[in-house]
Amino acid sequence: MALLIDVKHPDWMKDEDLRAKLLRQYPAADIRIGTDPGDPDEIEMLTVSTYLPGEALRYPNLKLIQKTGAGVNNILADHELPEAVQITRLQTDTSGTEMAEYALAYVLQEQRHIRQYHQHQARSEWVAYPPRKTGDTTVAVLGLGRIGVLVAQRFVDNGFQVLGWSRSPKTLDKMSCFAGDEGLTKVLTMSDYVVSVLPSTPETLQIFDRDLFKRFNPQSLLINVGRGDLVNESDLLQALDDGELAGAILDVMSIEPLPADNPLWLHPRIQLTPHISGYHLGDAVLDIAENYRRLQNDEPLLHLVDRGRGY
Ligand code: NDP
Repeated sequence: MALLIDVKHPDWMKDEDLRAKLLRQYPAADIRIGTDPGDPDEIEMLTVSTYLPGEALRYPNLKLIQKTGAGVNNILADHELPEAVQITRLQTDTSGTEMAEYALAYVLQEQRHIRQYHQHQARSEWVAYPPRKTGDTTVAVLGLGRIGVLVAQRFVDNGFQVLGWSRSPKTLDKMSCFAGDEGLTKVLTMSDYVVSVLPSTPETLQIFDRDLFKRFNPQSLLINVGRGDLVNESDLLQALDDGELAGAILDVMSIEPLPADNPLWLHPRIQLTPHISGYHLGDAVLDIAENYRRLQNDEPLLHLVDRGRGY
C-alpha cells in the first residue's frame, strides 16, 4: 500500500517536505510524491490540497483521499469519484487560530476607522472619528465547527457580543446560538459583522444571495473565510451598490486566483485577500500519517467526511 502526496501548491507546501515529515512519524510507510508516483496500481491513499476532476480514476486501487486542509467541496464535486473512495480532511487549530486573528484584525480595523485614517493621511487631513464601542458591537459567526468556535471564542474573549449559527442547534458559553432559516434572519438583522466560516455544500452554495443580503443590517460587513462559492458575487456587488450591507472582506472567491479583470478587485467597499486567512497546518499534518496507518490496519479514520452531508 502506498500513499501519494500531490499537494500541487509548492509555494505553500512542497510534496517532499511533507513526505519527510510523515516519514519521521511513520518510517515504515511507502510514501511517494507527485513527480514520481511509481506504479498507479499501488496507490491506495492520495493526499492533495487542490484536487483535479477525475484524479481519483488515475489510481485503480484508491481507497482514501486525504485533504491537506478542512474544505473538501472540490473533491466531492467530482462526479467521477468512485463511491467506495473515502475522504478525510484535517482539523487544525493552527489554521483556526489564524482565521480568528484575521477576522478580529479586520473588525478592529473598522472599529477604529483605520482605513479612513490611511486615506486622510494621504491627503494630509486631520479628521477624528469616535471609536465604535466593543461591548455595543455584535459579531455573528456562521458555521460553528472546529474553526467557527475558535473564531467566535476570540470575539467573546475580546468583549464583543457574539451570535452563532449552525445547522444543528448548539449551546456555547457566553454567546447566543441559532439554527435554521428563521435563526439566520435573526442573526443577520442583529449583527454589525457577519463572519462566514461555513463549508461549501449543496445546502450552503450561494447562500449569500440577493434574498439573504436583504436580511442584513445595512451597516454591517460580511467577512467570508469559508469558501468563495458561498457568495453569489454579482448579487454581492448589487447589494453593496444598493446599500443592503456596508462592505465585504473576502479571503475566498469563486475563482481562485481571482482574474485581474474581475469587478470584485475594484469595488470601493470590498477588501480582498488571496485565501490566506488560515495558512499554517501545524502538527495536524501528522494525522495524515496516522490515517495511513489506520487505513493499513482497517481502523476507523480520523476526520472522515460525510459524503452525503458534504462536510
Ligand atoms: P466543520 O465541519 O468543523 O464545521 C462546519 C460548520 O458549518 C458546522 O458548525 C456546521 O453545522 C455548519 N454548517 C454546515 N452546513 C450548514 C448549513 N447548511 N447551515 C448551517 N450551518 C451549517 O468545519 P471547519 O470549522 O473545520 O471548517 C469550516 C470551513 O472553513 C471549511 O469547510 C473550509 O471551507 C473553510 N476554511 C477556510 C480556510 C481559509 O484559509 N480561508 C482554511 C480552513 C478552512 P453543524 O455544527 O450543525 O454540523
